[in-house]
Amino acid sequence: MSNEKVDMFCWQCSQTAKGSGCTVRGVCGKVPTVARLQDNLIYSMKGISAYNYNANVLGSKDPEIDEFLTKGLYSTLTNVNFDAEDLVNLALEAGEVNVKVMRMLKDAHIAHYGEPTPVEVQVGSKKGPGILVTGHDLKALEELLKQTEGKGINIYTHSEMLPAHGYPKLREYEHLVGQLGGPWFDQKEIFSKYNVAILATSNCVLLPKDEYKDRIFTMDVAKLPDTPIIENYDFTELINKALELGDLEEEETKTFTTGFGVNTILSLADKIKELVTDGKIKRFFLVGGCDSPHPKATYYREFVENLPEDTIVLTLACGKYRFNDLDLGDIEGVPRLIDMGQCNDAIAAVDVALALCDLFDLGLNELPLTIVLSWMEQKAVAILWSLLYLGKTDMLIGPILPAWANDDILNILVNNYNLTPIGDPKEDIKKIMG
Ligand code: SF4
Ligand code: SF4
Repeated sequence: MSNEKVDMFCWQCSQTAKGSGCTVRGVCGKVPTVARLQDNLIYSMKGISAYNYNANVLGSKDPEIDEFLTKGLYSTLTNVNFDAEDLVNLALEAGEVNVKVMRMLKDAHIAHYGEPTPVEVQVGSKKGPGILVTGHDLKALEELLKQTEGKGINIYTHSEMLPAHGYPKLREYEHLVGQLGGPWFDQKEIFSKYNVAILATSNCVLLPKDEYKDRIFTMDVAKLPDTPIIENYDFTELINKALELGDLEEEETKTFTTGFGVNTILSLADKIKELVTDGKIKRFFLVGGCDSPHPKATYYREFVENLPEDTIVLTLACGKYRFNDLDLGDIEGVPRLIDMGQCNDAIAAVDVALALCDLFDLGLNELPLTIVLSWMEQKAVAILWSLLYLGKTDMLIGPILPAWANDDILNILVNNYNLTPIGDPKEDIKKIMG
Protein backbone atom coordinates (compact mmCIF):
# COMPACT_ATOMS: atom_id res chain seq x y z
CA MET A 1 0.00 0.00 0.00
CA SER A 2 1.27 3.45 -0.90
CA ASN A 3 2.15 5.95 1.83
CA GLU A 4 1.46 8.79 -0.56
CA LYS A 5 -0.85 11.37 1.00
CA VAL A 6 -4.24 11.79 -0.61
CA ASP A 7 -4.61 15.50 -1.27
CA MET A 8 -8.35 15.31 -0.84
CA PHE A 9 -11.04 12.71 -0.65
CA CYS A 10 -14.70 13.25 -1.33
CA TRP A 11 -17.31 10.75 -2.50
CA GLN A 12 -20.43 12.43 -1.30
CA CYS A 13 -22.19 12.87 -4.64
CA SER A 14 -22.78 10.85 -7.79
CA GLN A 15 -20.47 13.01 -9.89
CA THR A 16 -17.51 11.60 -8.01
CA ALA A 17 -14.44 10.76 -10.14
CA LYS A 18 -14.53 7.32 -11.76
CA GLY A 19 -17.46 6.47 -9.50
CA SER A 20 -15.04 5.91 -6.62
CA GLY A 21 -13.96 9.28 -5.16
CA CYS A 22 -12.49 12.67 -6.03
CA THR A 23 -8.90 12.50 -4.81
CA VAL A 24 -7.11 15.26 -6.73
CA ARG A 25 -9.76 17.90 -7.36
CA GLY A 26 -13.53 17.60 -7.34
CA VAL A 27 -15.45 17.01 -10.57
CA CYS A 28 -17.63 19.82 -9.17
CA GLY A 29 -14.57 22.09 -9.03
CA LYS A 30 -13.95 21.75 -5.29
CA VAL A 31 -10.23 22.30 -4.60
CA PRO A 32 -8.36 20.29 -1.93
CA THR A 33 -8.12 23.18 0.54
CA VAL A 34 -11.91 23.66 0.41
CA ALA A 35 -12.43 19.91 0.87
CA ARG A 36 -10.11 19.91 3.87
CA LEU A 37 -11.71 23.00 5.38
CA GLN A 38 -15.09 21.29 5.01
CA ASP A 39 -13.70 18.25 6.83
CA ASN A 40 -12.23 20.52 9.49
CA LEU A 41 -15.63 22.16 10.00
CA ILE A 42 -17.34 18.77 10.26
CA TYR A 43 -14.77 17.57 12.81
CA SER A 44 -15.17 20.74 14.87
CA MET A 45 -18.94 20.28 14.82
CA LYS A 46 -18.56 16.68 15.97
CA GLY A 47 -16.65 17.97 18.99
CA ILE A 48 -19.36 20.58 19.64
CA SER A 49 -22.01 17.87 19.35
CA ALA A 50 -20.30 15.76 22.01
CA TYR A 51 -20.38 18.67 24.47
CA ASN A 52 -23.91 19.56 23.43
CA TYR A 53 -25.14 16.01 23.93
CA ASN A 54 -23.68 15.79 27.44
CA ALA A 55 -25.26 19.15 28.34
CA ASN A 56 -28.63 18.11 26.83
CA VAL A 57 -28.60 14.97 29.01
CA LEU A 58 -28.55 17.30 32.02
CA GLY A 59 -31.42 19.35 30.60
CA SER A 60 -29.36 22.30 29.27
CA LYS A 61 -30.10 23.44 25.72
CA ASP A 62 -29.29 26.48 23.62
CA PRO A 63 -31.09 26.91 20.28
CA GLU A 64 -28.19 29.02 18.94
CA ILE A 65 -25.86 26.03 19.24
CA ASP A 66 -28.27 23.78 17.37
CA GLU A 67 -28.77 26.46 14.71
CA PHE A 68 -25.03 26.69 14.15
CA LEU A 69 -24.70 22.92 13.82
CA THR A 70 -27.47 22.91 11.22
CA LYS A 71 -25.92 25.80 9.27
CA GLY A 72 -22.42 24.35 9.48
CA LEU A 73 -23.50 20.92 8.25
CA TYR A 74 -25.55 22.44 5.44
CA SER A 75 -22.45 24.39 4.34
CA THR A 76 -20.68 21.11 3.61
CA LEU A 77 -23.43 19.78 1.31
CA THR A 78 -22.52 19.31 -2.36
CA ASN A 79 -22.44 22.54 -4.39
CA VAL A 80 -23.06 24.95 -1.52
CA ASN A 81 -19.83 26.56 -0.38
CA PHE A 82 -16.63 26.73 -2.45
CA ASP A 83 -15.22 29.72 -0.54
CA ALA A 84 -12.11 28.85 1.50
CA GLU A 85 -12.15 32.16 3.37
CA ASP A 86 -15.75 31.68 4.42
CA LEU A 87 -14.96 28.16 5.62
CA VAL A 88 -12.16 29.55 7.81
CA ASN A 89 -14.67 32.07 9.20
CA LEU A 90 -17.11 29.23 9.85
CA ALA A 91 -14.35 27.34 11.68
CA LEU A 92 -13.79 30.41 13.87
CA GLU A 93 -17.54 30.61 14.45
CA ALA A 94 -17.40 26.93 15.43
CA GLY A 95 -14.70 27.90 17.96
CA GLU A 96 -17.00 30.60 19.36
CA VAL A 97 -19.95 28.21 19.57
CA ASN A 98 -17.70 25.64 21.20
CA VAL A 99 -16.82 28.11 23.97
CA LYS A 100 -20.55 28.59 24.49
CA VAL A 101 -21.35 24.87 24.59
CA MET A 102 -18.41 24.07 26.88
CA ARG A 103 -19.60 26.76 29.27
CA MET A 104 -23.18 25.46 29.14
CA LEU A 105 -21.96 21.96 30.00
CA LYS A 106 -19.70 23.16 32.81
CA ASP A 107 -22.53 25.24 34.30
CA ALA A 108 -24.81 22.19 34.13
CA HIS A 109 -22.22 20.03 35.91
CA ILE A 110 -21.75 22.62 38.64
CA ALA A 111 -25.51 23.13 39.04
CA HIS A 112 -26.02 19.39 39.50
CA TYR A 113 -22.88 18.31 41.36
CA GLY A 114 -21.38 21.45 42.93
CA GLU A 115 -18.19 23.36 42.11
CA PRO A 116 -15.23 20.94 41.88
CA THR A 117 -12.62 21.10 44.61
CA PRO A 118 -9.16 19.48 44.68
CA VAL A 119 -9.13 15.87 45.77
CA GLU A 120 -6.63 13.02 45.94
CA VAL A 121 -7.95 10.00 44.09
CA GLN A 122 -6.70 6.51 44.95
CA VAL A 123 -5.60 4.58 41.88
CA GLY A 124 -5.83 0.82 42.40
CA SER A 125 -8.28 -1.85 43.44
CA LYS A 126 -10.00 -2.31 46.81
CA LYS A 127 -11.26 -5.58 48.24
CA GLY A 128 -14.75 -6.38 46.96
CA PRO A 129 -16.74 -6.56 43.73
CA GLY A 130 -16.46 -3.58 41.43
CA ILE A 131 -17.87 -1.62 38.53
CA LEU A 132 -15.58 0.49 36.38
CA VAL A 133 -17.17 3.50 34.68
CA THR A 134 -15.61 5.15 31.65
CA GLY A 135 -16.82 7.99 29.44
CA HIS A 136 -18.07 11.49 30.17
CA ASP A 137 -21.63 11.04 31.41
CA LEU A 138 -21.72 12.20 35.04
CA LYS A 139 -25.47 11.64 35.21
CA ALA A 140 -24.95 7.95 34.39
CA LEU A 141 -22.36 7.73 37.16
CA GLU A 142 -24.70 9.44 39.63
CA GLU A 143 -27.59 7.09 38.79
CA LEU A 144 -25.30 4.10 39.13
CA LEU A 145 -24.01 5.34 42.50
CA LYS A 146 -27.60 5.65 43.72
CA GLN A 147 -28.54 2.17 42.53
CA THR A 148 -25.46 0.50 44.04
CA GLU A 149 -25.70 2.16 47.44
CA GLY A 150 -25.49 -0.42 50.25
CA LYS A 151 -24.79 -3.30 47.86
CA GLY A 152 -21.11 -3.65 48.78
CA ILE A 153 -19.94 -2.83 45.23
CA ASN A 154 -16.99 -0.50 44.75
CA ILE A 155 -17.36 2.00 41.92
CA TYR A 156 -14.21 3.04 40.08
CA THR A 157 -13.64 5.66 37.41
CA HIS A 158 -11.48 5.21 34.36
CA SER A 159 -9.80 7.79 32.12
CA GLU A 160 -12.19 10.64 31.28
CA MET A 161 -14.40 9.90 34.32
CA LEU A 162 -11.58 10.84 36.76
CA PRO A 163 -12.84 14.43 37.33
CA ALA A 164 -16.08 13.03 38.80
CA HIS A 165 -14.18 12.71 42.10
CA GLY A 166 -13.77 16.50 42.22
CA TYR A 167 -17.54 17.14 42.36
CA PRO A 168 -18.77 17.34 45.98
CA LYS A 169 -22.17 15.75 45.32
CA LEU A 170 -20.62 12.71 43.63
CA ARG A 171 -17.90 12.43 46.27
CA GLU A 172 -20.60 12.06 48.93
CA TYR A 173 -21.02 8.45 47.81
CA GLU A 174 -18.48 6.52 49.85
CA HIS A 175 -18.47 3.58 47.45
CA LEU A 176 -16.99 5.83 44.72
CA VAL A 177 -13.62 4.51 45.84
CA GLY A 178 -11.10 5.50 43.21
CA GLN A 179 -9.75 5.04 39.70
CA LEU A 180 -8.35 2.13 37.74
CA GLY A 181 -5.93 2.90 34.93
CA GLY A 182 -5.16 6.10 33.08
CA PRO A 183 -5.95 7.40 29.59
CA TRP A 184 -8.55 5.94 27.23
CA PHE A 185 -6.07 3.89 25.25
CA ASP A 186 -4.97 1.74 28.20
CA GLN A 187 -8.51 0.32 28.41
CA LYS A 188 -7.81 -3.02 26.72
CA GLU A 189 -5.09 -3.71 29.27
CA ILE A 190 -6.95 -2.32 32.29
CA PHE A 191 -10.34 -3.83 31.46
CA SER A 192 -8.68 -7.23 30.96
CA LYS A 193 -6.67 -6.95 34.16
CA TYR A 194 -9.50 -6.16 36.58
CA ASN A 195 -12.34 -8.68 36.73
CA VAL A 196 -15.12 -6.14 37.16
CA ALA A 197 -18.28 -5.13 35.30
CA ILE A 198 -17.60 -2.18 33.00
CA LEU A 199 -19.89 0.65 31.95
CA ALA A 200 -19.00 2.74 28.88
CA THR A 201 -21.08 5.91 28.93
CA SER A 202 -19.80 7.87 25.92
CA ASN A 203 -16.95 8.31 23.46
CA CYS A 204 -13.43 6.92 23.78
CA VAL A 205 -14.54 3.31 24.12
CA LEU A 206 -12.64 0.70 22.09
CA LEU A 207 -13.79 -2.58 20.55
CA PRO A 208 -13.50 -5.02 23.46
CA LYS A 209 -11.10 -7.92 23.80
CA ASP A 210 -12.51 -11.41 24.33
CA GLU A 211 -11.26 -11.24 27.95
CA TYR A 212 -13.94 -8.76 28.93
CA LYS A 213 -16.54 -8.53 26.18
CA ASP A 214 -19.05 -10.46 28.30
CA ARG A 215 -18.79 -7.93 31.12
CA ILE A 216 -18.81 -4.57 29.30
CA PHE A 217 -22.07 -2.63 28.96
CA THR A 218 -22.74 0.50 26.92
CA MET A 219 -25.35 3.24 27.02
CA ASP A 220 -26.44 6.39 25.20
CA VAL A 221 -24.38 7.01 22.06
CA ALA A 222 -21.73 4.41 22.95
CA LYS A 223 -22.40 1.04 21.32
CA LEU A 224 -20.31 -2.09 20.81
CA PRO A 225 -21.31 -5.12 18.78
CA ASP A 226 -22.83 -8.02 20.75
CA THR A 227 -22.64 -6.31 24.13
CA PRO A 228 -25.60 -5.41 26.37
CA ILE A 229 -27.03 -1.92 26.29
CA ILE A 230 -28.32 -0.08 29.35
CA GLU A 231 -31.67 1.59 28.72
CA ASN A 232 -33.34 4.25 30.88
CA TYR A 233 -30.58 4.17 33.49
CA ASP A 234 -31.65 0.71 34.64
CA PHE A 235 -28.35 -0.81 35.84
CA THR A 236 -29.80 -4.04 37.25
CA GLU A 237 -28.02 -6.31 34.78
CA LEU A 238 -24.70 -4.51 35.25
CA ILE A 239 -25.00 -4.70 39.05
CA ASN A 240 -25.83 -8.41 38.91
CA LYS A 241 -22.82 -9.00 36.66
CA ALA A 242 -20.54 -7.19 39.15
CA LEU A 243 -21.80 -9.33 42.03
CA GLU A 244 -21.49 -12.52 39.97
CA LEU A 245 -17.84 -11.72 39.13
CA GLY A 246 -16.86 -11.63 42.80
CA ASP A 247 -14.18 -9.75 44.68
CA LEU A 248 -11.12 -7.87 43.51
CA GLU A 249 -8.13 -8.02 45.82
CA GLU A 250 -6.78 -4.97 47.63
CA GLU A 251 -3.68 -3.65 45.87
CA GLU A 252 -1.19 -0.95 46.64
CA THR A 253 -2.46 2.38 45.44
CA LYS A 254 -0.97 5.59 44.15
CA THR A 255 -2.87 8.87 43.93
CA PHE A 256 -3.83 11.43 41.31
CA THR A 257 -4.86 14.91 42.40
CA THR A 258 -7.68 16.42 40.36
CA GLY A 259 -10.65 18.76 40.73
CA PHE A 260 -9.14 22.24 40.56
CA GLY A 261 -12.14 24.36 39.59
CA VAL A 262 -11.90 27.95 38.45
CA ASN A 263 -12.90 29.27 41.87
CA THR A 264 -10.21 27.23 43.66
CA ILE A 265 -7.58 28.65 41.36
CA LEU A 266 -8.97 32.16 41.64
CA SER A 267 -8.92 31.90 45.43
CA LEU A 268 -5.13 31.94 44.95
CA ALA A 269 -5.28 35.03 42.71
CA ASP A 270 -3.67 37.47 45.17
CA LYS A 271 -0.85 35.05 45.95
CA ILE A 272 -0.31 34.31 42.25
CA LYS A 273 -0.14 38.04 41.50
CA GLU A 274 2.42 38.55 44.27
CA LEU A 275 4.54 35.61 43.07
CA VAL A 276 4.49 36.81 39.46
CA THR A 277 5.31 40.38 40.50
CA ASP A 278 8.21 39.12 42.65
CA GLY A 279 9.53 37.03 39.74
CA LYS A 280 8.90 33.75 41.60
CA ILE A 281 6.48 32.53 38.91
CA LYS A 282 7.95 33.22 35.47
CA ARG A 283 5.43 31.53 33.21
CA PHE A 284 2.26 29.45 33.11
CA PHE A 285 1.94 26.51 30.77
CA LEU A 286 -1.32 24.92 29.75
CA VAL A 287 -0.32 21.43 28.66
CA GLY A 288 -3.21 19.18 27.70
CA GLY A 289 -5.71 17.91 25.20
CA CYS A 290 -6.43 14.41 23.98
CA ASP A 291 -3.74 11.81 24.54
CA SER A 292 -2.75 9.57 21.67
CA PRO A 293 -0.68 6.39 21.56
CA HIS A 294 1.58 8.06 18.96
CA PRO A 295 5.27 7.53 19.88
CA LYS A 296 5.91 11.27 19.74
CA ALA A 297 3.44 11.81 22.61
CA THR A 298 6.29 11.10 25.06
CA TYR A 299 7.18 14.72 24.31
CA TYR A 300 4.60 15.99 26.79
CA ARG A 301 6.14 14.22 29.80
CA GLU A 302 9.63 15.29 28.86
CA PHE A 303 8.40 18.83 28.34
CA VAL A 304 6.77 19.05 31.79
CA GLU A 305 9.68 17.28 33.51
CA ASN A 306 12.14 19.78 32.09
CA LEU A 307 10.26 22.96 32.87
CA PRO A 308 12.06 25.35 35.23
CA GLU A 309 10.91 25.31 38.84
CA ASP A 310 9.50 28.82 38.61
CA THR A 311 6.73 27.74 36.24
CA ILE A 312 3.19 26.50 36.82
CA VAL A 313 1.56 23.76 34.72
CA LEU A 314 -2.19 23.81 34.21
CA THR A 315 -3.48 20.64 32.63
CA LEU A 316 -6.65 18.92 31.55
CA ALA A 317 -8.05 16.09 29.44
CA CYS A 318 -6.30 12.79 28.73
CA GLY A 319 -3.05 14.54 27.84
CA LYS A 320 -2.44 14.93 31.58
CA TYR A 321 -1.97 11.19 32.05
CA ARG A 322 1.43 11.60 30.41
CA PHE A 323 2.71 13.39 33.52
CA ASN A 324 0.10 13.61 36.29
CA ASP A 325 2.04 11.17 38.45
CA LEU A 326 4.91 13.69 38.69
CA ASP A 327 5.42 15.50 41.94
CA LEU A 328 6.26 19.03 40.85
CA GLY A 329 5.86 20.50 44.33
CA ASP A 330 4.60 24.02 44.87
CA ILE A 331 5.67 27.63 44.80
CA GLU A 332 4.89 29.08 48.24
CA GLY A 333 1.68 27.07 48.49
CA VAL A 334 0.60 27.36 44.82
CA PRO A 335 0.79 23.84 43.33
CA ARG A 336 3.00 23.62 40.28
CA LEU A 337 0.77 21.00 38.65
CA ILE A 338 -2.92 21.90 38.54
CA ASP A 339 -5.33 19.36 37.03
CA MET A 340 -8.57 21.05 36.02
CA GLY A 341 -10.31 17.93 34.74
CA GLN A 342 -11.09 16.30 31.42
CA CYS A 343 -11.99 17.47 27.95
CA ASN A 344 -15.44 18.33 29.31
CA ASP A 345 -13.79 20.83 31.66
CA ALA A 346 -11.76 22.64 28.99
CA ILE A 347 -13.76 25.81 29.56
CA ALA A 348 -12.15 26.01 33.02
CA ALA A 349 -8.76 26.56 31.36
CA VAL A 350 -10.24 29.26 29.14
CA ASP A 351 -11.82 30.95 32.15
CA VAL A 352 -8.59 30.79 34.17
CA ALA A 353 -6.66 32.30 31.25
CA LEU A 354 -9.22 35.10 30.93
CA ALA A 355 -9.12 35.65 34.71
CA LEU A 356 -5.32 35.95 34.54
CA CYS A 357 -5.79 38.59 31.82
CA ASP A 358 -8.00 40.56 34.23
CA LEU A 359 -5.64 40.00 37.14
CA PHE A 360 -2.63 41.39 35.29
CA ASP A 361 -4.56 43.75 33.03
CA LEU A 362 -2.98 42.12 30.00
CA GLY A 363 -4.28 40.70 26.73
CA LEU A 364 -4.32 36.94 26.20
CA ASN A 365 -1.14 37.01 24.12
CA GLU A 366 0.66 39.35 26.52
CA LEU A 367 0.24 36.97 29.45
CA PRO A 368 3.20 34.78 30.40
CA LEU A 369 1.13 31.78 29.25
CA THR A 370 2.07 29.16 26.68
CA ILE A 371 -0.40 26.58 25.45
CA VAL A 372 0.95 23.18 24.43
CA LEU A 373 -1.87 21.17 22.88
CA SER A 374 -2.13 17.50 22.10
CA TRP A 375 -4.79 16.52 19.62
CA MET A 376 -6.22 13.14 18.82
CA GLU A 377 -9.83 13.52 17.80
CA GLN A 378 -12.64 15.88 17.17
CA LYS A 379 -13.12 17.55 20.56
CA ALA A 380 -9.50 18.69 20.39
CA VAL A 381 -10.15 20.23 16.97
CA ALA A 382 -13.12 22.15 18.36
CA ILE A 383 -10.99 23.37 21.29
CA LEU A 384 -8.20 24.42 18.94
CA TRP A 385 -10.66 26.60 17.00
CA SER A 386 -12.01 27.99 20.29
CA LEU A 387 -8.52 29.14 21.22
CA LEU A 388 -8.00 30.60 17.75
CA TYR A 389 -11.36 32.35 17.98
CA LEU A 390 -10.21 33.86 21.31
CA GLY A 391 -7.17 35.15 19.44
CA LYS A 392 -4.58 32.99 21.18
CA THR A 393 -1.36 32.81 19.20
CA ASP A 394 2.01 31.07 19.58
CA MET A 395 0.63 27.69 20.60
CA LEU A 396 2.48 24.44 20.15
CA ILE A 397 0.59 21.47 18.73
CA GLY A 398 1.39 17.78 18.50
CA PRO A 399 2.12 14.93 18.61
CA ILE A 400 1.50 15.22 14.86
CA LEU A 401 -0.30 17.89 12.90
CA PRO A 402 -3.95 17.24 12.06
CA ALA A 403 -4.06 15.38 8.74
CA TRP A 404 -6.56 17.85 7.29
CA ALA A 405 -3.95 20.60 7.53
CA ASN A 406 -2.47 20.77 4.02
CA ASP A 407 0.10 23.45 3.22
CA ASP A 408 -2.55 26.09 2.56
CA ILE A 409 -4.23 25.49 5.91
CA LEU A 410 -0.91 25.24 7.70
CA ASN A 411 0.08 28.60 6.22
CA ILE A 412 -3.09 30.17 7.63
CA LEU A 413 -2.39 28.66 11.06
CA VAL A 414 1.27 29.69 11.04
CA ASN A 415 0.89 33.12 9.47
CA ASN A 416 -2.19 34.22 11.42
CA TYR A 417 -1.63 32.42 14.72
CA ASN A 418 2.02 31.38 14.80
CA LEU A 419 1.01 27.80 15.57
CA THR A 420 4.11 25.61 15.79
CA PRO A 421 4.43 21.82 15.67
CA ILE A 422 6.13 20.41 18.78
CA GLY A 423 9.85 19.74 18.37
CA ASP A 424 12.47 18.77 20.94
CA PRO A 425 11.12 19.41 24.48
CA LYS A 426 14.27 21.03 25.88
CA GLU A 427 14.79 23.17 22.78
CA ASP A 428 11.15 24.26 22.80
CA ILE A 429 11.40 25.26 26.48
CA LYS A 430 14.60 27.20 25.79
CA LYS A 431 12.89 29.11 22.98
CA ILE A 432 9.81 29.88 25.09
CA MET A 433 11.68 30.90 28.25
CA GLY A 434 14.24 32.96 26.27
S1 SF4 B 1 -19.05 16.93 -4.07
FE1 SF4 B 1 -17.55 17.43 -5.65
S2 SF4 B 1 -15.65 16.67 -4.75
FE2 SF4 B 1 -17.31 15.65 -3.68
S3 SF4 B 1 -17.72 13.77 -4.74
FE3 SF4 B 1 -19.09 15.29 -5.61
S4 SF4 B 1 -17.93 16.07 -7.35
FE4 SF4 B 1 -16.47 15.04 -6.10
S1 SF4 C 1 -9.51 14.11 26.15
FE1 SF4 C 1 -9.88 13.31 24.12
S2 SF4 C 1 -9.13 11.21 24.24
FE2 SF4 C 1 -9.51 11.91 26.30
S3 SF4 C 1 -11.58 11.34 26.82
FE3 SF4 C 1 -11.64 13.41 26.05
S4 SF4 C 1 -12.10 13.15 23.89
FE4 SF4 C 1 -11.35 11.17 24.62
